[in-house]
Amino acid sequence: MRIRFWGVRGSIPAPGPETNRYGGNTSCVSVRTAGDHLIIIDMGTGLMPLGVSLLSTEFGNGAGRATVLLSHAHWDHIQGFGFFPPIFVPGNRFSIYGGGRSPSMLEGILEGQMNPHFSPIYTLKNLGANIEFFGVTPGQPFEVDGVRVTAESNPHGTTTALAYRLEEAGRSLVYASDVGYPPEGPSDAVRALYRRADALIHDCTYTPADRKTRIERGFSSIADAAAAAADAAAKRLIMFHYDQDYSDDAVDQLRDDCRAELDRLGASKTELIAAAEGLELEI
Ligand SMILES: [Zn+2]
Repeated sequence: MRIRFWGVRGSIPAPGPETNRYGGNTSCVSVRTAGDHLIIIDMGTGLMPLGVSLLSTEFGNGAGRATVLLSHAHWDHIQGFGFFPPIFVPGNRFSIYGGGRSPSMLEGILEGQMNPHFSPIYTLKNLGANIEFFGVTPGQPFEVDGVRVTAESNPHGTTTALAYRLEEAGRSLVYASDVGYPPEGPSDAVRALYRRADALIHDCTYTPADRKTRIERGFSSIADAAAAAADAAAKRLIMFHYDQDYSDDAVDQLRDDCRAELDRLGASKTELIAAAEGLELEI
């Protein structure tokens, strides 16, 4: 699997000179399978530059196919949708998987985003591409181009967010953004989902001190992420979804503190990477 980060910020885009190194776009990660199928995880504003890069490929002439895995539908995970150029090209096909009790509920949420109060697009029916919706049931794996995908639900403030595990040829990638664990930590099902991941992309919104004062927002601190990675014996922990108010220097400090926390927990073998826009990784 070839992984690329297009947006690593949480909650709201954070452009400007203080966030240039890690980037200001919100959550979006692309994964290329061994068969070169495109899987997109979340559709934050990072989806826009991904879309622009795709126009020079088969997505520019209407022969593109991609799968989208949505963790949940908060703004920072769907706002790139209406600004994703391949969605306007007739012939392109997108399969969108997400939570919700039915595919029509998921479609309704994204349809609402196109309402004229919010967008000049008016309705999904004005998009040229063909879009199909699929509801994801936690614990029930499905297959996307030879990749086995399993999802589990994590608490996220007043709602929940899906974490995904992608497995291909013995390699595993886990995406767990927007996670506010209860004091006892992740559920057994979630711990099993993370187990021995080659790459665990995990919510690292806050310092432990900031999380304490913002518990109700349902995000992780670097200590929560380090604990999850240590418990899972993950090969790599990839920090993700930084608070919009954190400068690049603050994220550097988060990374150093997260490294120290991993070492303290006996997980010195777990490699630590702070995700940045443009970062590519092969597992
Ligand atoms: Zn988010």
